[in-house]
Amino acid sequence: MKAIQVKQGGGPEVMQLVELPIPEPKANEAVVKLAASGVNFIDVYVREGRYKAPLPVVPGQEGAGVVTAVGADVHSVKPGDRVAWCSVLGTYAEYASVPADRLVPIPNGVNDQQAAAAMLQGMTAHYLSHDTYPLKQGETALVHAAAGGVGLLLVQMAHNIGARVIATVSTDEKAQLARGAGAHEVILYSKSDFEAETRRLTGGKGVDVVYDSVGKTTFEKGLSVLRPRKMMVLFGGSSGAVPPFDPMVLAQKGSLYVTRPTLVAYIATREELLARSSAVFSMVSAGKLKLRIAHTYPLAEAQQAHRDLEARKTTGKLLLIP
Ligand code: NDP
Repeated sequence: MKAIQVKQGGGPEVMQLVELPIPEPKANEAVVKLAASGVNFIDVYVREGRYKAPLPVVPGQEGAGVVTAVGADVHSVKPGDRVAWCSVLGTYAEYASVPADRLVPIPNGVNDQQAAAAMLQGMTAHYLSHDTYPLKQGETALVHAAAGGVGLLLVQMAHNIGARVIATVSTDEKAQLARGAGAHEVILYSKSDFEAETRRLTGGKGVDVVYDSVGKTTFEKGLSVLRPRKMMVLFGGSSGAVPPFDPMVLAQKGSLYVTRPTLVAYIATREELLARSSAVFSMVSAGKLKLRIAHTYPLAEAQQAHRDLEARKTTGKLLLIP
């Protein structure tokens, strides 16, 4: 089978198209023929070596397709079933072997590409808005990088809850997309100071929650736009890692909370994985959550997909099609 492999960490060029044997399932695994693999920013961290993985590694942690073989102990799925999964390495390939308890069924009404697009970013937007800081109607959320993969989904979910969404993006085109997803206000943080703008837009009061995936360039100012006792949800570092900071800052800015959550902790049990994925798929099939699959690339063009993602050229979801 064809697969993308990384033998040592580095730039996009370290991702090479190689020929590998189709995997055999271990006793607890199912082999899936991929219809699509999601591309996520975490794949960049794995490729670079910022997140450690045993090398050589087939990157990619989000996929959907059809089961072709199952291990001896697997009874939850069978060949022919349509399934999706995330947070298991190895999806930049034609086939992947996946622990069966990490697979979820794809319901009718959701196609394979939609499933691959919804798993990682959809469940992330879901846990952020429903569990990490459960947004309430009438509250105000600041969402950074709002036209990105997670961003567009998070804006829609926050909007559907009835919250007021202030979004940040870097271009006018992205601003339009954020508005289309339900953002009430959009700040071009590449041109104006989002701290001052957020203060102005909230009449000086600030916001109830900041959902920050950008990190290095936004974190500190984000703390300054929170209302007292409210929450900074730092869930990524697209601009780089946030440097260490003094917790006294949280006291000075109003007894704030900071959390640094990850999806794996919010889908740790089989029950939670099934509940969360089915909640997201229900939103998709009901038309309440629109997936913007803006960029599809052949598997062989994984390097280009990463270049585009890192250069902030993309909006919504990127998929690799084997
Ligand atoms: P995005 O589609 O959001 O792409 C990243 C976006 O970040 C860019 O489009 C850009 O939007 C913005 N950005 C700001 N500064 C930079 C910079 N210096 N370089 C690159 N991009 C920048 O990616 P994803 O939706 O895949 O992921 C978003 C973030 O969420 C990532 O940091 C990822 O690691 C994190 N994440 C965390 C999860 C968790 O559970 N903790 C789960 C899933 C994702 P603009 O041009 O508008 O500024």
